Amino acid sequence: MTNHYDVLGVARDATPEEIKKAYRRLARDHHPDLNGGGGKDDEKFKQISHAYEVLSDPAKRRNYDATGSEKGGFGGFGSGFPSSGAEGFGFQDIFDTFFGGGGATQQRASRTRRGQDALIRVEIDLKDAVFGTNKSIEVDTAITCPVCNGECTEPGTHMETCAVCHGSGNIQRAVRSILGQVMTTAQCPNCEGTGTTIPHPCHECSGEGRIRARRDITLKIPAGVDTGTRIQLREQGEVGPAGGPHGDLYVDIKVKPDPQFTRDGDNLHATLNVPMTAATLGTSVKIPTLDGERDVDIAPGTQSGSTLTLRGLGVTRLRSQVRGDLVVDVHVQTPTKVTPEQEELLKQFAQLRQEEFVEGKLASASNGMFAKLRDKLGNL
Ligand SMILES: [Zn+2]
Ligand SMILES: [Zn+2]
Repeated sequence: MTNHYDVLGVARDATPEEIKKAYRRLARDHHPDLNGGGGKDDEKFKQISHAYEVLSDPAKRRNYDATGSEKGGFGGFGSGFPSSGAEGFGFQDIFDTFFGGGGATQQRASRTRRGQDALIRVEIDLKDAVFGTNKSIEVDTAITCPVCNGECTEPGTHMETCAVCHGSGNIQRAVRSILGQVMTTAQCPNCEGTGTTIPHPCHECSGEGRIRARRDITLKIPAGVDTGTRIQLREQGEVGPAGGPHGDLYVDIKVKPDPQFTRDGDNLHATLNVPMTAATLGTSVKIPTLDGERDVDIAPGTQSGSTLTLRGLGVTRLRSQVRGDLVVDVHVQTPTKVTPEQEELLKQFAQLRQEEFVEGKLASASNGMFAKLRDKLGNL
């Protein structure tokens, strides 16, 4: 038989406060809901809860200290009887009915429960998605009641052992069946199975041990998030009733559209408009990037639709240092309005290039134009 003091890791003379603290810490560490459930934690959590159940109740603790057992005065009695359960109901049930319970027939319900998970949406700029950021957000949540500190009772008052079930959380009912009268166990309606009642509920939280409040949270957004990324913040959700552990907070990220850059996975795209003359003659231009301005060379003869790649100026890959590229899509601008003088110069230019431009008409498409297109298609 495990020692309840050892289970909670407290001294034999631990104060109720110390016992409660130890219990909360352990319950959080081993709560099945927080640890994926099942297996070792389940068992451990039951042990912890049970040890706390005994040691937090002054009468039970006195009895446990005195006898090393929690069965009460009739503790060893049952063992002298023939084994129970053969007919489908336990002798233990009947003993509990006669002697006021204390057996481990059904686990007592806990007032303490884990808080709910919460989901919020946060909108960020592209720049924050690329570099990551800390964002201060306000969440509407439940926090531990500051008046009763999660105890549920008005300060100076205490929970009382339920007068109906005497603290077991269960009541026995006689039910007629074809086998005759059998005893069944049901949850105590007076205390909803918790074994305790609150004669004076805390005025602030109405005995729930928590209140609704707005809470500021600093949200660490890692570099590389995108619309649809969900961030889990452990234990930042609602606090549970009666001092129960926190649920988790989930944050759904939405990245606002950027006027300058569009995102394609790890790469960013931007469009650069280059005048026809500059594209022909070549030039150098400053372009804005998320990392500040960069000088970019436009080679002589740059074509519309060509791209310039700036390595490492794209989006950081989530949970890494690697960054994608900034791809600049070049758009060569054809003048839409020209003066008579400019028109004359362009005509001369065409003539010098033997582009057979006559009075607003291309004489033929023989100048290699379709040939080039054919070459291009052939290369695909
Ligand atoms: Zn309260
Ligand atoms: Zn009760």
